[in-house]
Amino acid sequence: MSELDRRQFLRYAGAGAASVLVSGELELARAIAGPQASDRLGNKAIKDLERAVSGRVLVRGGGKAYNQARKVYNSRFSHLRPAAVVKVKNAADVRAVMKWANKYDVNVRARSGGHSYAGYSTTGSGVVIDLSKLDSVRANNGSKSATVGAGAGLIRMYAELAKRGVTVPGGSCPTVGISGLAMGGGMGFASRKFGLTCDNITAVSIVTPDGALRTASAKENPSLLWACQGGGGGNFGIVTDFTFKTHRAKSAAYYFLNWPWSQASQALAAWQKLTATASPDLCPFFSLTTGDGSPEVGSIGQFFGSESELREALKPLTDVDGASLTIGTKKYVDLMQQWAGCSKESVHSCEKATPVSFYGASDYVQKAADSAGREQMIKAIEERQGKGKGALLFDGYGGNINKVKPTATAFVHRDQLYCIQYYAEPASKHEDKSTQRWIQSARERLSDYVSGQAYQNYIDPKLKSWKRAYYGKNYDRLVQVKTHYDPDDRLSFKQGIKPSR
Ligand SMILES: Cc1cc2nc3c(=O)[nH]c(=O)nc-3n(C[C@H](O)[C@H](O)[C@H](O)COP(=O)(O)OP(=O)(O)OC[C@H]3O[C@@H](n4cnc5c(N)ncnc54)[C@H](O)[C@@H]3O)c2cc1C
Repeated sequence: MSELDRRQFLRYAGAGAASVLVSGELELARAIAGPQASDRLGNKAIKDLERAVSGRVLVRGGGKAYNQARKVYNSRFSHLRPAAVVKVKNAADVRAVMKWANKYDVNVRARSGGHSYAGYSTTGSGVVIDLSKLDSVRANNGSKSATVGAGAGLIRMYAELAKRGVTVPGGSCPTVGISGLAMGGGMGFASRKFGLTCDNITAVSIVTPDGALRTASAKENPSLLWACQGGGGGNFGIVTDFTFKTHRAKSAAYYFLNWPWSQASQALAAWQKLTATASPDLCPFFSLTTGDGSPEVGSIGQFFGSESELREALKPLTDVDGASLTIGTKKYVDLMQQWAGCSKESVHSCEKATPVSFYGASDYVQKAADSAGREQMIKAIEERQGKGKGALLFDGYGGNINKVKPTATAFVHRDQLYCIQYYAEPASKHEDKSTQRWIQSARERLSDYVSGQAYQNYIDPKLKSWKRAYYGKNYDRLVQVKTHYDPDDRLSFKQGIKPSR
């Protein structure tokens, strides 16, 4: 894989694509938007909102600033026009918006990094609470814990904590928001070692839909804390900050591995075995990708140990014919920038997101795929070749992720070997339907080899069985928490947990 392609796939992103609205998407957009509640919001309501908060209220029709504020990362949803985007300055603002929304019966969406695959942090009606100004990162308690503002992007969190020689395990994309990531799980290059992001939350400050600012911790509102640990962003209230347990991380080793395409099945077999048996110090990922040229097969990963130990640990992968290995060690923040695809930039420039038009979905795999299963994975990529970017991206689970009981947090996927993400970017606006069809066809190919679970952070509006796929046996308890804190479904969205009536 070329340096450029690697960077693009690391960020699951590529050349910025223009916002598109094709016929099939109109339906989806309507489903997301719901009824046009904002159409009945008069001047008085908007004036009330402006008076209630100290942050900026950008109202539909408000020109350039509004048009900028309504954009989200997946440009397929950038056409949606919320009634207003409120750039809150503090928790008091969030409380005020929530009380206002109750008074005027308006749907509320929270936005942290805006990276929801399905555009759930925007809406065609209702208001968006944009938390991006709540981005402070503070180490506490001799750096044993950290309080992170709900609007902080990942690279900002890594860079600030690296100054203290600590980290919180998170994902790779620099501009993904801490809120969506942590509340839906949070898988990345340190997860097998330090757990998922949600496993490291010890407390949240959260404004619940009744307008109260609450703490959820082991002592106060413990069910609410449980639900915020994997129960999915946007469901139970609006978090204003997270407290995380931190881990010492000054540097780590890393690797990049490639094989010829003809070795894809052997390489995948070796990677599956490694993922099942490797020490938690190793976090290995695997990818089958296609872009402009021939399909590519590779593995990348991070290791908490020396380069010679890493070389030894990778032997099952390097023993596959044709393996080409690059190995090294970096300071932790430099490594986070490497995975973010912005090694040569300042942290500040790394914080700037460029919207991309993409489709994504996922399936978990519990048992290593046999040669017939691996063949289907390879065929899926070959089928996409020449039709635009497409990838099967494999996140290796196990290690300390799987040591947590499935019911200990709302994140249920604790006995899975790996998660496959189906990712594709339409080559042009005319390719949306064929791109969706490709993802559908890849999922069908693999249906005999997957477990029926799916990752709630690769949220897929087309997934019919989402309740059980994302939350499994935890769904019923999530409904109880939802019913307690948001009985009127003020935070409603298509794949949101529904309160029982
Ligand atoms: C390019 C890219 C790379 C990614 N890489 C990874 C990765 O390495 N590992 C991984 O695990 N996942 C990854 N993801 C998936 C990512 O975890 C989810 O898309 C996540 O939901 C994004 O969070 P966000 O805050 O940026 O998004 P948003 O769109 O802002 O929010 C996502 C959901 O959470 C809700 N929400 C936002 N803020 C709050 C809040 N303060 N309180 C309550 N609810 C809130 C929103 O309403 C929405 O429903 C990636 C996604 C993309 C697009």
